[in-house]
Amino acid sequence: MADPSLDVLIVGAGFGGMYMLIKARSLGLKALAIESAPSVGGTWYHNRYPGARVDIQSLEYSFSFDEALQQEWRWTERYASQPELLRYANHVADRFALRDSIRLETRLAGATWDEDERRWVATSDEGERWSARFLVMASGPLSAPNTPNFEGLDHFAGTTHHTADWPHEAVDFGGQRVGVIGTGSSGVQAIPEIARQARSLTVFQRTAAYAVPSHNGPLDAAWEARVKADYAGFRARNRLMRTGFGCELPPHMVSALAVSPEERESRFEERWAYGGFALLGTFYDIMLDLRANEFAAEFVRAKIRATVHNAQTARRLSPTQPIGCKRLCVDSGGYYETFNRSNVQLVDLNEAPLERITPRGVFADGREHELDVLVLATGFDAVTGTLMRTKLQGRDGLSIQEKWRPGALNYLGLAVAGFPNMFNIAGAGSTSAFTSVIQSIEHHVNWICECIAWLDTQRLTTIEATVHAEADWMAHVQAMAEQTVFLSCNSWYMGANVPGKPRLFMPLTGGFPAYVERCAQVATNGYEGFRVS
Ligand code: NAP
Repeated sequence: MADPSLDVLIVGAGFGGMYMLIKARSLGLKALAIESAPSVGGTWYHNRYPGARVDIQSLEYSFSFDEALQQEWRWTERYASQPELLRYANHVADRFALRDSIRLETRLAGATWDEDERRWVATSDEGERWSARFLVMASGPLSAPNTPNFEGLDHFAGTTHHTADWPHEAVDFGGQRVGVIGTGSSGVQAIPEIARQARSLTVFQRTAAYAVPSHNGPLDAAWEARVKADYAGFRARNRLMRTGFGCELPPHMVSALAVSPEERESRFEERWAYGGFALLGTFYDIMLDLRANEFAAEFVRAKIRATVHNAQTARRLSPTQPIGCKRLCVDSGGYYETFNRSNVQLVDLNEAPLERITPRGVFADGREHELDVLVLATGFDAVTGTLMRTKLQGRDGLSIQEKWRPGALNYLGLAVAGFPNMFNIAGAGSTSAFTSVIQSIEHHVNWICECIAWLDTQRLTTIEATVHAEADWMAHVQAMAEQTVFLSCNSWYMGANVPGKPRLFMPLTGGFPAYVERCAQVATNGYEGFRVS
């Protein structure tokens, strides 16, 4: 017999699930979070490969909802490492006494909308059942690892690790011949660390990455004190940024095409010296105009040529797609310098395609590269992957697989037509992928909880996005993307990294403030675009 008393079932106990739990409880709702991992922390529990750290500054990539929490927590580095982020997640769980409402090592097997009861009925893979008025999917946009179907992978006789599902015991690369496939953010972070330990490292690259330095180091105490003296103001200024972070160095509102070559260069240098995503804000049109973008791209290519001693390797490491079109990689380990090491070699899979994995290594470049360890830094079935691997059934037996066959249809990034009382956190159609995701999580959860409170005040039981509002929203997401350079490459933003996945640009590029305003308008207008009953 399902427990009838749950108001909210939350799937996931990363930052999204934990904040949803905190807010739901504050409304007096009976909420439970289920989490498949044995710990809270979500992405920061699983992605523990060497070098894993956040690519947004710690003072900005953290919760803002509680002044005491943000004042008392001390980050040690400008960009927090994975172990520190996991400690932070555990601190949040303890500080807000969340653990008794989180069921760990519990995976959602499926959830079905019961139209008669107007509730979701969910089961775990161990057969536990819950019934809840609302289902909140806080399962994360980057939580379903993408393992390409390489011929022979199962027969590799050495050890294979995926960066997104890294072992919890230390992996010793000492004396090992290691291969890494993949040069996105995970590969760029892991490669320098592995190179320092391994006997040899072979990097198999399909698309070269733009990596910008983070200039990570101990968190500057004076900066921390200044931010904390007015943390609320700092957060408020960040919320006005298109990305929800970076208020201390906002985008320069001048076109890259409107300045002299000398000025362009010196402005790029300033941002390069500052580090991180700031480079993309050197001129306002870098992500809007391919000509402006090319100036920034060429600036980074020149840095690669200046860093990498071997000219052919430098050429292979130089990306050709627009910069930022795939997410920019923020480098704390000296990524390009790594290729000057004598124990590191680069295999460009465009020149020499990866044919198969053999028991002894990787067959590419017309020969077998013998390996003891193979690291797959091949990313995620992003945004939709986790839900598409779950048995979710909405109204009239509509499955999420059927619903999303053409792509991740949704309204506001928060709701899906045909799936009443189900909400997404950091879903497709929201700006979350382009923001400091914790700020997006806070916005989504606040919006969802206000919506639930409104329904209760109005004595309504169900809310569901209309097909019409959903179609309009998806058209808006596509139209916004068309105004940018984001459609000019094969990124996970459009599902292009997973063979067979529908190509539909998933995140909203319109900027965080405009998105927040639109969500607020929808609420003010009595949840326009939703059908309530
Ligand atoms: P990713 O950006 O999707 O990179 C995956 C890499 O694997 C790409 O180089 C890709 O090549 C390659 N690849 C995939 N399938 C392949 C195949 N069949 N053959 C050869 N190569 C293949 O994944 P990720 O590096 O895990 O990062 C995903 C996202 O997670 C990031 O964009 C970021 O949002 C987040 N992340 C953030 C951080 C951080 O700094 N905080 C760290 C890690 C991840 P192609 O490019 O050609 O597809």
